[in-house]
Amino acid sequence: MTRVAIVGAGPAGIRAAAALVEAGIRPVLLDEAARPGGQGYRTPSPGLDLDMAALMGSEAGHHARLHGLFAAIHDRVDYRPETLVWAVDGRTLHVATQGRAGMVAFDALLLATGATDRVVPCPGWTKPGVFTLGGAQAILKDQGCFIGRRVAFVGSSPLLLLAALQYQSLGAHVAAVVDTTPFGAKLAALPGLAASPRTLRRGIAYRTKLRAAGIPVHDGAAPVAIEGRDGVEGVRLRHGAREWTIACDAVALGHGLKPETQLADLAGAQFAYDPVFRQWLPETDADGRAGPSLYLAGDGAAIGGAYAAEASGTLAAAALLADHGRPQPKATLRRLRQEVARLRRFQRGLARAFAWPAGQAAALPDDATLCRCEGITAGEVRRAMAQPLGPREVNRVKAITRVGMGRCQGRICGPALADIVAAAAGLDHAAVGRLRGQAPVKPIPLALGAEPAG
Ligand SMILES: Cc1cc2nc3c(=O)[nH]c(=O)nc-3n(C[C@H](O)[C@H](O)[C@H](O)COP(=O)(O)OP(=O)(O)OC[C@H]3O[C@@H](n4cnc5c(N)ncnc54)[C@H](O)[C@@H]3O)c2cc1C
Repeated sequence: MTRVAIVGAGPAGIRAAAALVEAGIRPVLLDEAARPGGQGYRTPSPGLDLDMAALMGSEAGHHARLHGLFAAIHDRVDYRPETLVWAVDGRTLHVATQGRAGMVAFDALLLATGATDRVVPCPGWTKPGVFTLGGAQAILKDQGCFIGRRVAFVGSSPLLLLAALQYQSLGAHVAAVVDTTPFGAKLAALPGLAASPRTLRRGIAYRTKLRAAGIPVHDGAAPVAIEGRDGVEGVRLRHGAREWTIACDAVALGHGLKPETQLADLAGAQFAYDPVFRQWLPETDADGRAGPSLYLAGDGAAIGGAYAAEASGTLAAAALLADHGRPQPKATLRRLRQEVARLRRFQRGLARAFAWPAGQAAALPDDATLCRCEGITAGEVRRAMAQPLGPREVNRVKAITRVGMGRCQGRICGPALADIVAAAAGLDHAAVGRLRGQAPVKPIPLALGAEPAG
């Protein structure tokens, strides 16, 4: 039958692969990571004896089950780790496996590319010792290392609480958790959060445990600057008229997640603006169809968390099978659709409870770095826009200033850029557009072009 390529061996990709294997298909499963599991259920490096029970808490059993499932289907999947998919061209994926070029032809493509951190820059955010929140977690889960000896977790995200607790339970000193969203916003979001009472209870438990361990949790405070001479020495915070500094030697900065959509963009998916997430998201039907022979699942389609990722992976595989003449049981599809919709509803509640601080990005001082790859400040963007006939749309701003044109292709600075452009132009956030996906979607070695394709 059809050649199926899956990109992403996280919960969504593994479940999709399992459903296809069950139907007698051997999919190609590509992942740039060395080991399966994706972001949340990442596998520690070989030989590293991490206390997974302390690290994963109540999720340890689920983590083990997902990896057990992968082990069970491993022989029936063409699994290719350490393989970055850097472009989609018609029915061909361009890949780099440990620096070597290759191509993978497909008839159907299922993208389960997950999410990445969203961050609002602040003065000092490019100092050594400042990590994204996801980066701080990845280092811990992958290598068993802390990002510092005294770590502050700053931003607006439920993962701040989880990551702080993971650091604390493995022996790090957590200086504080600083959440820019006021506590009142969390209370107001409760009706949406009721869609998943179990996860809500877990979030409350994280908070309670941190407080019980004597770790300060500040709601509604914003970082004024990350201070220090050669590295991080503290974070200066403001809450109303009050300003104070927390001493620390590392900061984990995170303001929620955004789907990794560049490959979906290159594969022809359409995008629509979502005001709750303040993001452009790929359009799919309820089962994950995003175009002819194109299927999206997991956080790469819409942020939903690991359980939604698993259900949506199974659902997207079922859609693929149905489109190739193998309809799946209606009752199963109905149950999966309901599960995905419920969990994504919960995430919309989280997006309200841990809101993206749009005002903070728009107010970034002129001399603060916005694009760290190209070294572009917020002021350079504003000055370019203030020229006669200056740009009002993010791709034009990128072309003129080089903001978002470096290694990360705007994956890090893009969300704050949109806020700065919208505020400077006096336009709605949606009206300034979205940075278009460009190949290569992530850095590849220059020598790759010289390699024979195989
Ligand atoms: C950094 C980070 C840390 C997180 N930590 C937690 C946590 O501790 N607990 C929790 O509940 N949730 C966590 N989340 C959220 C969690 O990732 C998701 O809910 C869940 O893992 C989503 O599953 P998924 O299969 O959609 O994507 P993921 O698990 O993210 O898997 C996507 C996979 O796609 C691969 N990929 C992406 N692009 C490419 C490409 N171009 N080429 C090849 N491979 C590619 C990635 O390497 C990754 O393995 C975290 C998210 C992030 C971004």
